[in-house]
Amino acid sequence: MSTSAPAEGLITLAAPLAGWSASLDETPDAVFAGRMMGDGVAIDPTAGTLHAPCDGELVLIAAARHAVTLRTAGGCQVLMHVGIDTVALGGEGFTVAATPGTRVRTGDPLLRFDLDLLARRAPSLLTPVIVTADSGFRILKRTLDCAVAVGDLLMEIVPESSATPAGAAPAAPGRVHSRRVTVGFEHGIHARPAALLAASLKDLAADVRIMARGHEANARSTVALMTLGAQHGDAVEIRASGPDAALAVSTLAAALGVTTAAPAGTGSTVRAARADPAVTAPPADAALQGPPLGPGDALPGVIASRGLAVGRAVQFRPPEIQIAAAGADPEQESAALDRARAAVRARLERRAAATAEGAGARAAGEIAAAHLELIDDPELLAAARLELSRGRSAGFAWRQALRTAAAALRALADPRLRERVDDLLDLETQVLLALSGKSAAAQLELPEQSIVIARELLPSQLVSLDAARVAGLAMAAGGATSHVSIIAAAMGVPALVALGPRALSLGDGTQLILDAERGVLEIEPPAARLDAARALLASRRARLAAERAAAQRECRLADGTRIEVFANVGSVAEAEAAVRDGAEGCGLLRTEFLFLDRQLPPEEAEQAAEYQKIADALGGRPLTIRTLDAGGDKPIAYLPQPPEENPALGLRGVRTSLANLPLFEAQLRAILAVRPGEQCRILLPMITDSGDLTAVRAVLDQVRAERGLTRTVEVGVMIETPASAVLADQLAAAADFLSIGTNDLTQYTLAMDRTSAQLAPRLDALHPAVLRLIERAATAALAHQRMVAVCGGLASEPLAAPLLVGLGVRELSAVGAVIPRLKAVLSRVTLAECRALAQEALTQRDAAAVRALAQRLQERSGEAPR
Ligand code: PEP
Ligand code: MG
Repeated sequence: MSTSAPAEGLITLAAPLAGWSASLDETPDAVFAGRMMGDGVAIDPTAGTLHAPCDGELVLIAAARHAVTLRTAGGCQVLMHVGIDTVALGGEGFTVAATPGTRVRTGDPLLRFDLDLLARRAPSLLTPVIVTADSGFRILKRTLDCAVAVGDLLMEIVPESSATPAGAAPAAPGRVHSRRVTVGFEHGIHARPAALLAASLKDLAADVRIMARGHEANARSTVALMTLGAQHGDAVEIRASGPDAALAVSTLAAALGVTTAAPAGTGSTVRAARADPAVTAPPADAALQGPPLGPGDALPGVIASRGLAVGRAVQFRPPEIQIAAAGADPEQESAALDRARAAVRARLERRAAATAEGAGARAAGEIAAAHLELIDDPELLAAARLELSRGRSAGFAWRQALRTAAAALRALADPRLRERVDDLLDLETQVLLALSGKSAAAQLELPEQSIVIARELLPSQLVSLDAARVAGLAMAAGGATSHVSIIAAAMGVPALVALGPRALSLGDGTQLILDAERGVLEIEPPAARLDAARALLASRRARLAAERAAAQRECRLADGTRIEVFANVGSVAEAEAAVRDGAEGCGLLRTEFLFLDRQLPPEEAEQAAEYQKIADALGGRPLTIRTLDAGGDKPIAYLPQPPEENPALGLRGVRTSLANLPLFEAQLRAILAVRPGEQCRILLPMITDSGDLTAVRAVLDQVRAERGLTRTVEVGVMIETPASAVLADQLAAAADFLSIGTNDLTQYTLAMDRTSAQLAPRLDALHPAVLRLIERAATAALAHQRMVAVCGGLASEPLAAPLLVGLGVRELSAVGAVIPRLKAVLSRVTLAECRALAQEALTQRDAAAVRALAQRLQERSGEAPR
């Protein structure tokens, strides 16, 4: 291989495969042929080993083992994608020969693949070797249309020194202020911190850059910040120039140095619920090939949203979007892009602000809000404008900008960024549709009971369907934890993913049973099976209707014992929905909703008004207002918090409040302003011992005295640290009530991070160790005649409800939608049965054994297994 360097910074890329070299134009894939990821050469391989084309770091091997990214010492990223659409093989036929994250030398084997299998299964073996568009390198020379052996010269590339990097704003005049800080965000600068950092600069006039890991990013660009890949503990440099430069540096330094964590994987919001790193689940193997589907066939798939549906197939065919590469006049194209963005922005704003009921609508709103964050991202716009200035069409420029950003995020191999890649691709389609004058919503006329079949729906496509007519979703590709799966689950629509391409061959109107409990799509099932499935659905619907009708009654066990069933609430809309669901009050108002995602704390008056609206929505029912639970997995950018190695064990909950007294006092004043005062009680998060309560009572007494308030207010403590559970007798003596937070109690008892996807299967609040602590707390509360509640996630599990009651719990605060079920389950058991179950559960060895016991009681009490 030639190593002479005719140009500065020249890098030689050797052929990574033996085969025939061809232009990227020949790849049967618009992404590669359109150079959307970058420029390069394709190789039609004749042997099954992919070698390193240069020295560098192996930054990524895709989950499906079909693509590899290498980064050279100069920062150039080279992507090699073996074959086309080979992700669908889900790794079959590929063997990894090198370790991601390590350095490799030119010629080292990286992947081995079964050439015959790929020839049979993939649409093409052409393997693009791409210099990624964001690398800042261009190709000087390439070897095309000839046979190549491994190690032969394939390309020579040089840094694109002449061009201004996409999106780089000209330096603002004036002194440059800079500071080095350590990234405090526990999971580095991923989506949420990036958005917070960019937002913190909104009102400041300065050009601000962050340098990390050898890269520079415009600090106003969420995308550019994520692309830095900066991790917890990384030293980064902030540089700013312009009138507000000094303030910008200190603002960012404060925000960056905050030690925070990623949103909780087990949290209450839809976006935070995606902790599973699964990317695209492979289509089921048996579904990849075979004869056309016919009566009695069943396609296996992966369950994305549990449930059963009987209906007829409707194929969702996304509109063809034709994009010309060349544009008319750059100004016209730019105006067209702005018009299309404005149209999409208006639609997203409507969706984000919609107050429709239901978790599905809320999920759609959250995703719209995420898209809104990106649609005006300065870095994306700068990249698109650069393309426009090169004579590209509006559509081409927009797609190029978004795909480049998506590819850069993907290359970071951070599963938390995956949803941002989905957001970018979804937003790309929305704007392209608007540019072409087409509307996603107008696509599909759905008959009643449609089972919508698609390769993979985008969230915006799902929310544009007529939900009342969608009985189920069947997707050929997709993952169980994708956005669209989460929205489907929130909407209560059963969904299967990864059914394989054969699903796409089903004709419209084909009779189907979508069984997302067993994970199969049944095609034209026999009449008897259809009848049985319809009967099951009808009986479930009847039971649900009966449970909902009975949900407004107060909850009693079969022997008349009174149990209160309250709701956890995080907004006015949730409070209204909870009352409709039969909530007898609110056992946990998570006030964080007022404090997160903003640059300044809410004023006392704003807080008071919001709390009052929630109290009113509850129509006089009890309202338990938990004081701010900041820190840990709920970072708040504007609170000055020290860098922490272990934020979950750091300044969070009441500790944060006591460390920020003016903020705490304002919140207490706002709570005390709610009328009628007797409706409210105060709940304190992350209590360790009665010293915390004494400190809070002193602040509260002072606030009451200043206000001249004589009325007392009940103050309860959360039992969510093992210390508070062990000391529950002391706490019960000092507090007015106890409320057990099983989410944190489980994480701290089992020493398993609640945000860890890997540990998620073992993080079970029914673990006997957790149950023993609950029993201890409940016994202490009863001894002091104090009410003991559970407001953690375990209270929302119908299976666990009798067990908690048996342990002594008398109030459950749950997700609103499960309240009818909880009341129904409890109405079928007696206190004696609950106690017997609890005693046996305490002696079990693990959570699985406890679940099995609880299941047996449910079945005995006439509850059909679900
Ligand atoms: C808990 O920890 O169980 C709880 C209710 O608090 P959060 O989930 O808000 O941390
Ligand atoms: Mg908690």
